[in-house]
Amino acid sequence: MGSVVISLDAELGWGFHDIEAPPRERVEAGSRGWLTMLDLLEEFEVPATWAVVGHLMLEDCDGRHDDHPTGPSWFERERTEWAHREDLRFGPDLVEGILDSPVDHEFASHSFSHVLFGRPETTREVAEAELERCCEVAARWGLLFESFVYPRNDVGHRDVLAEYGVKAYRGKSPTRDGVRGVFDSLVRDRSFLVEPTMDERGLVNVPASMFLFGFEGRARTIAESVWADPMVVTARRGIDEAAENDGVFHMWLHPNNLTHQRDADRMRAILEHVDRRRIDSDLTVETMSDVARRIRPMSNDFSAVTPGRN
Ligand SMILES: [Zn+2]
Ligand SMILES: [Zn+2]
Repeated sequence: MGSVVISLDAELGWGFHDIEAPPRERVEAGSRGWLTMLDLLEEFEVPATWAVVGHLMLEDCDGRHDDHPTGPSWFERERTEWAHREDLRFGPDLVEGILDSPVDHEFASHSFSHVLFGRPETTREVAEAELERCCEVAARWGLLFESFVYPRNDVGHRDVLAEYGVKAYRGKSPTRDGVRGVFDSLVRDRSFLVEPTMDERGLVNVPASMFLFGFEGRARTIAESVWADPMVVTARRGIDEAAENDGVFHMWLHPNNLTHQRDADRMRAILEHVDRRRIDSDLTVETMSDVARRIRPMSNDFSAVTPGRN
């Protein structure tokens, strides 16, 4: 019997601040998508791992962050185009929404300012600064985190994560995203189940199985005109596989992927299926930190408190 894991990269503007021309629709959809996902997860009582960009938990900032080793140029958009877009730079109310949910979500980290950890220019010092600030701001909120989602899934500096007490991260998917992944599953009958592994530092890799919004635009519209939403069909297959076999089916998305009603409909259909299979089989829903605890049962270095508000 397997399990389903859902992780969300909760970032508002931070997922795009280093991009020359951020995709407008997605930037503007961030907070609405966040609230929609909170509602849907609550409706189906499905706990998820919410990987939050640390900067969102600040009340305000000077837009420079002079003490950050990346230097103020990394934060330039805060001082220019988004100087008056506090709603893209901060989101304490949205973070409260995760913590106050009746569903036992996992509060996790998506770095402090969406630095790409695998890039050569990201020195160890930068990685440490990102983790340090996440831990600081979390502590001010009375929170700890045990799971980390790398910005753009760019894995790097795993030793720094371990140093700051992280126990789990989301590794790259062994299968392909988008149309190709759908093809692999539906035509080539490839499995989407992943097997979490622990590295030499005790850090558990909970690889992604499937990005839920890799099949968009025209291709999606055409597919939907002749067929049901192909991502829903594929996700249901993954959920069924996890209900019948050992292994983890790990889906992920950004709240800002919910740009239209059909995106919320997709998530509803997927969560409905998770709920249905949880009732008629031994399928469980886990967070990334639940998986890490299960994989490393012998180590007792987890804090006694569940991640979340102390
Ligand atoms: Zn700032
Ligand atoms: Zn991100």
